[in-house]
Amino acid sequence: MIRATLSFPHGFLWGTATAAHQVEGDNANNDWWEWERQPGRIRNNHRSGKACDWWGGRWAEDFDRAAGTGQNTHRLSVEWSRIEPSPATWDDAALDAYRQILRGALERGLMPMVTLHHFTSPLWLASMGGWLADDIVTRFERYARKVVGALQDLVGLWVTINEPNVLAYSGYAGPEFPPGARSMPKAVQALRNMALAHAAAYRAIHELQPGALVGMAHHVRGFAPARPGNLLDEQVARLRGRVFNETLPRVLADGRFSVLGRAERMTGVAGTQDFFGLNYYTVERCAFDLRRPGQLFTRSFYPEGADLSPTGFIANEPDGLARALAWARRFGLPVYITENGVEDADDRMRPRYLAAHLRQVWKAVNIGTPVRGYYYWSLVDNFEWERGWTQRFGLWGLDTETQARLRRPSVDFYAEVCKANALSSEMVARYAPEAVEALFPSHGPDGLDVQRG
Ligand code: BGC
Repeated sequence: MIRATLSFPHGFLWGTATAAHQVEGDNANNDWWEWERQPGRIRNNHRSGKACDWWGGRWAEDFDRAAGTGQNTHRLSVEWSRIEPSPATWDDAALDAYRQILRGALERGLMPMVTLHHFTSPLWLASMGGWLADDIVTRFERYARKVVGALQDLVGLWVTINEPNVLAYSGYAGPEFPPGARSMPKAVQALRNMALAHAAAYRAIHELQPGALVGMAHHVRGFAPARPGNLLDEQVARLRGRVFNETLPRVLADGRFSVLGRAERMTGVAGTQDFFGLNYYTVERCAFDLRRPGQLFTRSFYPEGADLSPTGFIANEPDGLARALAWARRFGLPVYITENGVEDADDRMRPRYLAAHLRQVWKAVNIGTPVRGYYYWSLVDNFEWERGWTQRFGLWGLDTETQARLRRPSVDFYAEVCKANALSSEMVARYAPEAVEALFPSHGPDGLDVQRG
């Protein structure tokens, strides 16, 4: 191992990310709450229940944990169904509660990044068709205005919608998320409406708060050909990337919406991002398979020998983050890594996953990618959607019976990184010794200057 310290730029943001439904508890007025009550929808029929009890006030102790371990930012979301419990009825008490939470973050030195829509929709909206509702664009814009009007003195970084692609393909093309529509044309329509709603919200936010930075959190998944050099595998891998990863970022850049045979020039949509929010987790291999037209003729899988998370959900593929960052850079915007993480209850893989991904972030910064911050998913174990409580992404573990938090070793590893604003070989040697030689090879670190010592 070479001894080295990989320092990040002054002012780099270090934090964790959460989402309202996954941590607040008792979100009884949204589509997920109802979905969780339908047998078989969620693994083991788990329910979000009290979640991490943030609505009951436990955000304060979790923010203490985040701030006490060197973090200087937190990404959270606000819950539409609390703020607008029925159409055009606004709950000021809910907005006040969010003001208190945001003030609590600021008082602890955590700069908030706030997401307006993170997968959940109010029940009333779901009954009108959710992202397919006729007036969804106006309704989302009105909601954005209300929230930003009430919270703008506390928030400078806004994410309009989290992972439109995951929401569209899991909820409208697939059966995993509500409404479980199983229709590709509906997924495309939902994506289209999310692009328009984002653009409307972008303009509304800037009208109210000209200095705000507004973006989206894009889920960018790696798709690699199963057999490199095989033309069909390469083609389906490229196609998946175009359809899944590129549709939204492209339309927000140039106004051209084009996916699966539907093409449209949208007005007022080009140039509606102030930053690129990047959620990155893994890479999957794609093999051409004629029997799977619904999956764009792809069989996708993790290769044999992959470094897999305990439930096999995520393969540790840090190079995929490097590729995602190189691609995101082409949009010419500052980049925030708005999510990155792994489910690992025993915290065996997390330290090396974290170390390897942070090393890629550092490398990207050093070749000029304007990465401004990194948000680990997540601060504390939370409700993992259709996978319920079977997956544990938290730096801190959660006992859902007692609400006790469990300090995993990664808490201390990440704290050292945040406090030093750097990743060092010495930290990796202590927290992820199995990864140190790969990340800090004795023969020298891939041609990049590092500060020795
Ligand atoms: C979502 C999070 C989720 C995470 C891990 C992301 O796609 O934005 O809400 O918890 O993945 O499953």
